[in-house]
Amino acid sequence: MCGIVGYIGKNKNAQQILLDGLHRLEYRGYDSAGLCVISGKKCKTFRAVGKVSALEAKIGEKDLAAKIGIAHTRWATHGKPSVVNAHPHNCGKIHLVHNGIIENYAQLKEALIAKGHIFSSETDSEVVAHLIDEANGSSRSFEESVQDALAQIRGAYALVVMHEDEPEKLIAVRNSSPLVIGVGRDEFIVASDASAIITHTDRVLYLDDGEMIVLTADDHRITNFQGKLRNKKEHVLDWNESEAQKEGYAHFMLKEIFEQPHAVEDAMRGRVIIKEGLARLGGLSAVEKKIRSINRIVIVSCGTSYHAGLVGEYMLEEYAGIPTEVEYASEFRYRKPLIDKRTAVIAISQSGETADTRAAIREAKNKGALTLGIINAVGSTIARETDAGVYNHAGPEISVASTKAFTSQLTILTLFTVYMGRQRDMSMTMGRRILTELRALPHKIEEIFTQEKHIKKIAKKYSSVQSMFYLGRKYNYPIALEGAIKIKEISYIHAEGYASGEMKHGPIALIDKNFPSIVIAPCDSVYEKTLSAIAEIRARSGKVVVITTSDATEAIKIADDVIIVPKTLEMLMPLLTVVPLQILAYYAGVTRGYDVDKPRNLAKSVTVE
Ligand code: GLU
Repeated sequence: MCGIVGYIGKNKNAQQILLDGLHRLEYRGYDSAGLCVISGKKCKTFRAVGKVSALEAKIGEKDLAAKIGIAHTRWATHGKPSVVNAHPHNCGKIHLVHNGIIENYAQLKEALIAKGHIFSSETDSEVVAHLIDEANGSSRSFEESVQDALAQIRGAYALVVMHEDEPEKLIAVRNSSPLVIGVGRDEFIVASDASAIITHTDRVLYLDDGEMIVLTADDHRITNFQGKLRNKKEHVLDWNESEAQKEGYAHFMLKEIFEQPHAVEDAMRGRVIIKEGLARLGGLSAVEKKIRSINRIVIVSCGTSYHAGLVGEYMLEEYAGIPTEVEYASEFRYRKPLIDKRTAVIAISQSGETADTRAAIREAKNKGALTLGIINAVGSTIARETDAGVYNHAGPEISVASTKAFTSQLTILTLFTVYMGRQRDMSMTMGRRILTELRALPHKIEEIFTQEKHIKKIAKKYSSVQSMFYLGRKYNYPIALEGAIKIKEISYIHAEGYASGEMKHGPIALIDKNFPSIVIAPCDSVYEKTLSAIAEIRARSGKVVVITTSDATEAIKIADDVIIVPKTLEMLMPLLTVVPLQILAYYAGVTRGYDVDKPRNLAKSVTVE
């Protein structure tokens, strides 16, 4: 979680670059923010509760005249959001920002207090500043002091550290929390992800876990935590800068919803061979042979990606005939999963940095499984740590509530099903059929956009309810879960996603005229069963909004409100039915007056466990 930025250069104003970087990283955490620069030989620190704009207000018009600095936008783990808990933290002349959790901070803090250290915050992070200061005080160099501290801390961290007496030097380290180094001309910018770097340079260095970089304005040196030199190749980012801007949309979420036709198109670009009914997944070619011998798949993921995984399970079992399970990554790692060499464990993660998913992959690797990734962020940790994988190519997703990453994950899972199925007993005709329908989806998603105003009205109508159900069956059951999580995330309406057949086993007791249900009821193989669920709700005075297809006459007749989506294959329906649910959640959040891009208590990429 959280966004960190560090800057060192010869000519530019660090203050502007840091603040701009914080704005771009704000989606990662936004309960407080802070900045510290060295100007002359003096450190100037500003911290504020709330968003980056609150920090800017505190700094006001002041020109801090600095060429080096660090900044942070926080998602609190230890200590409530407050000015004293906001980063940067310091001890003496050591100043730092931290992303992650120092797991053994309590013991370390106790020992430091016994030595006379006085702490000013409740955070775990401050301990690191004290450890560095302690080593520095016993005449170790700045670098050595950082290494001494690293030898004592356990947990997940990315740190950027400055020393007031050495304003020509910035030190950054990484262990299990993301960190990218942008390489400019006579400048470096260090950040939690590339969105804070891309406006300055497209040349980057990726640090691996256990690596430390010492930066001066025109040079760098990468070592491990013991000081042993490491050689690193530079990479070139291919992000289009405009993709990280709002481009006239009120929110990133709305922009990203509308980008879905492109996202789906980009996810399948160059990967579909209609004539032969084949999916070409270049990222898997190195492990193609191994994949042929796989007899079981376990998908590990969290949140919205977990829902994509559930759709994947239905697809893979029905069309590729491979037993598939989906697990919350956070559960998988703590129980005793039965996996072996013939199991493929697939991580689905937009950011590729989700700590739980990453740990699950590590566990799967230890057990000898083949590990694969379906990841959006190129070069991210999970993408690099899995044996092979497929990138979504959805472009940066900034809104905390995931939309285009989800539909692109479903696109990749469809391609993967065809890939796996055609290796086994899927016919060429079936492969062709699925791929032809997949290709038609971007256009069909666009058709749904023509109902934006209508969906907005429905969102307004129901935006004052306290609770609601989202119901679906078979392929649309995961979409019911996704619809519910979406509205919870950004409108704070309590919502439950259920398999519609489960209603009568308990939840229906909640239904009354103030407890509406959104029912996904396209005319598919389970349509009649879903109709019965709608009738049962209506019989108890419950209001019903249906997401359906134009041929579902009965559903359209009995519902209070109707949203029509185009028809497609049953397995691909989730790519369409989810779209109105995203728009509905968006407008419910907006109507209730919330900042939908930065929902409370959440952060975009969950890099803590
Ligand atoms: N654990 C640190 C804190 O609570 C850093 C959290 C973050 O990554 O934002 O301040």
